[in-house]
Amino acid sequence: MQIILRNIMEDYVIVTLDRIAADLDCCKCEKCRLDISCYALNRLPAKYVATTQGELMTKLCQFDNQFETKVIAELTAAAEQIKKNPRHIY
Ligand SMILES: [Zn+2]
Repeated sequence: MQIILRNIMEDYVIVTLDRIAADLDCCKCEKCRLDISCYALNRLPAKYVATTQGELMTKLCQFDNQFETKVIAELTAAAEQIKKNPRHIY
């Protein structure tokens, strides 16, 4: 089984963004979604895990809820910023 190195914060941010996207008053296009994720990730600590692809979801589920509030706060701030300066083209 191949072990991969992964910044689990990245997965967590994307999963959380999908979960709260409806509550964020912002554009839901792919470009804005990724911009919001980048903005939040640059302000959050990286959390690397060495794991197998199969165990990744388990690791993600076990990922400490201590980060949830912070991740949501950063995503909310990110959505505000991206809303002001969207990079997508209408
Ligand atoms: Zn957009």
